[in-house]
Amino acid sequence: MTTGYDDNNIFAKILRGEIPCHKVYEDDDTLAFMDVMPQAPGHLLVIPKTGSRNLFDADPAVLAKTLPVVQKLANAAKEAFDADGVYIAQFNEPAAGQTVFHLHFHVVPRKEGIPLKPHSGTMEDGAVLAANAQKVRDAL
Ligand code: 5GP
Repeated sequence: MTTGYDDNNIFAKILRGEIPCHKVYEDDDTLAFMDVMPQAPGHLLVIPKTGSRNLFDADPAVLAKTLPVVQKLANAAKEAFDADGVYIAQFNEPAAGQTVFHLHFHVVPRKEGIPLKPHSGTMEDGAVLAANAQKVRDAL
């Protein structure tokens, strides 16, 4: 059952600066940072600063500000990782695979023929995430 927005979620804590992240982009409305359990090198997340549980309860005005940032980061990630394509994913509710209940868009650079690692799989080394974040920032 959908229970609404709870600002104790991990991304709300990242937005409040209570836990660290490898930031790649920030503006007044949006934050983008590396996923700690990447499904491919360069996997990052774009989140609106305004809290909503997922797409269902998001303000359309917030969505309108978020998607251009997803596009910007998709282009940067493609360039930074010399990707053949970029996978965008967004899950709504546990049945669809959602594990963190603050709206977010996955941006995952893909190489032809290289399968994705499992969703929420292995924690990546911090130095690797830092280096990958720098690559994306350099491509912005
Ligand atoms: P969801 O299944 O909700 O779409 O995906 C949540 C994503 O958040 C997963 O890909 C997971 O690896 C990532 N994640 C979970 N906890 C943290 C965290 O503390 N920091 C970061 N940067 N990513 C996280």
